[in-house]
Amino acid sequence: MARTVLVDVSGVARTFGRGPEAVVAVHDVTCTIRAGDRIALVGPSGSGKTTLLHLLAGLDQPTTGSIEWPGIGGPNDLRPGAVAVVFQAPSLVPPLDVTENVALPLLLSRADRAVARARALDALAALGLAELATRLPEELSGGQAQRVAVARAVAADPKLLLADEPTGQLDHHAGAAVVDALLAAADRTGAALVVNTHDPAVADRLGLRWSMTDGGLRAPELIER
Ligand code: ADP
Ligand code: MG
Repeated sequence: MARTVLVDVSGVARTFGRGPEAVVAVHDVTCTIRAGDRIALVGPSGSGKTTLLHLLAGLDQPTTGSIEWPGIGGPNDLRPGAVAVVFQAPSLVPPLDVTENVALPLLLSRADRAVARARALDALAALGLAELATRLPEELSGGQAQRVAVARAVAADPKLLLADEPTGQLDHHAGAAVVDALLAAADRTGAALVVNTHDPAVADRLGLRWSMTDGGLRAPELIER
């Protein structure tokens, strides 16, 4: 049976600014993300990876073309639960402890406090982070903070998990642990995963390679292992 199409991108371009100053960040992009996909979005700096990731997340709108989320819903159904994004800096909320940080999106989805807390603790335990539950963000290493950000992203069971250079500020070892967390989180929730990365060691752990050059996207390639 064909896997559910989660995102359908058709003839999309995104231009910033207008007139002679305009920058075409993404152009002529047509692609599909299906349930279970594990995609590495690779390409040099400035090639349009972040712009495309924001479009896939519904955080930005195309200048031309269309994006639909047939397996998820309309643009208003994407947040705070169904599409989750992990950014390069983990951006935890400083005065909240780890459990409260992970519960935050659930509370924004109007979950009951006790339910939000229980689901946050489940997400932390599933990623091997239970012992960090009562720490404050300032007490975490960069790698720990980023794994907590992954737990926060998946606590609400997203259908699509997007990560923008999630290992960009980490050493190899801490970065590998964050990739472990992303893969474990995607397996646990059944979410499709897209990881935007410069690092070939990160890309090699995923299943499909999407390469961008100057705003254009090449046909996907299977990643050999
Ligand atoms: P990548 O993530 O691959 O480094 P980006 O998507 O960030 O690439 O950027 C692609 C191009 O679009 C770059 O030339 C960048 O300078 C430009 N760009 C990205 N965001 C903006 C913005 N908000 N305003 C103007 N130009 C932008
Ligand atoms: Mg980028």
